[in-house]
Amino acid sequence: MFNDAVAARKHAHAEGLPHPSTAALSKALITAAKCTPERAWLGEVSAVVLQQALADADRAYQNFFASLKGKRAGARMGPPRFKRRVGAQSIRFTRNAKFSVLDNGRLRLPKIGDMRVVWSRELPSAPSSVTVVKTPTGKYYASFVVAVDDGADLLEPLAAPEAETGIDLGLKDFAVLRGGKVIENPKFFRRLERKLGKSQRVLARKAKGSANRAKARIRVAKVHERIKDARSDWVDKQVKTIVAENQGIYVEDLNVKGLSRGGHAKSMHDASFGMFLVRLESKAARAGRTFARVDRFFPSTRLCSLCGVLDGPSGIEGLKVRSWVCGCGAVHDRDQNAEINIRREGRRLVAEGHSDTRNASGQDVRPGRPGRPGNTREGQNEEPTRSGTAQAAPEPGTTVLLRR
Ligand SMILES: [Zn+2]
Repeated sequence: MFNDAVAARKHAHAEGLPHPSTAALSKALITAAKCTPERAWLGEVSAVVLQQALADADRAYQNFFASLKGKRAGARMGPPRFKRRVGAQSIRFTRNAKFSVLDNGRLRLPKIGDMRVVWSRELPSAPSSVTVVKTPTGKYYASFVVAVDDGADLLEPLAAPEAETGIDLGLKDFAVLRGGKVIENPKFFRRLERKLGKSQRVLARKAKGSANRAKARIRVAKVHERIKDARSDWVDKQVKTIVAENQGIYVEDLNVKGLSRGGHAKSMHDASFGMFLVRLESKAARAGRTFARVDRFFPSTRLCSLCGVLDGPSGIEGLKVRSWVCGCGAVHDRDQNAEINIRREGRRLVAEGHSDTRNASGQDVRPGRPGRPGNTREGQNEEPTRSGTAQAAPEPGTTVLLRR
């Protein structure tokens, strides 16, 4: 349906016709198409699911137009492309579709039936929509959008400025917090990356179109899934601790997209930064913590936190320096010094009232990717360089596992 909508709009554009409205597309691509033998199968699913796909295509075009006009934050984006059947597949039911959670705990989906559900938690309120996702490994997840009480996740306030920390993200250690507290890179980063490489090499050797290739592809997907789950769990744990222990949290706004160095694909480590920052911001906001991103050009490493002179290590060579001595006589651990500077700068930004006021980019059109059971649905917002502001963070949802 999404591809039909893109095709219709491409066609209209090529013929110099006006951009067809979603209502017109709905008539042509759903109502009329159902009567043709080629598209008769569209009648097998709820029409709401089809309309949601049209709405997604429309949103993708609106985002594209906004980007063309420079009204959308983030990198310039191209026009919507055809979706290929790779990765996760998903459908979304809204209230119009009359899906319901039954008293016996099953999820009733129109034209599909009553599904058994492994509930990871109780829904806090009636869901406004549910997205059903089939992962590449064949698991089904249901992700609900629910309204939550604003204060539901609020934590008891801690005394600032004692309970405040800067966060210096790095390569050697994942992060350095106040007082030199280190969050180490977990060992599974490397281990799972090796495993992924191995399964990908096996896949590359299988003949195209063979049954063994299909099997190998599922194996790769399974490793990807494990990586995602492990990373997600680990990041959640770090975020939870930091938010619990600090009233003020200040981080360097890294250009995560540009972090990948020297020919390496985006590593698990780099991908974790993006997820970490997005979740930290969102959790801090919900817990009532102060959060600010310090501009990534702020010289947190070069600045002497004692005398304020720009005398610290810089450039490629500077990356190797672990400690340095300032002209004022201060001896600095590179990362601890950076943390102090980030914390100070973050506090200043908050005091002056211009912390983190970036516009949220347009609504994401990708359907919700499933988190693990029990995780909130932040997958939608994991584009690392452009997360929404705390206020614009997506409403947390609930993801549960469907059992066939
Ligand atoms: Zn100094």
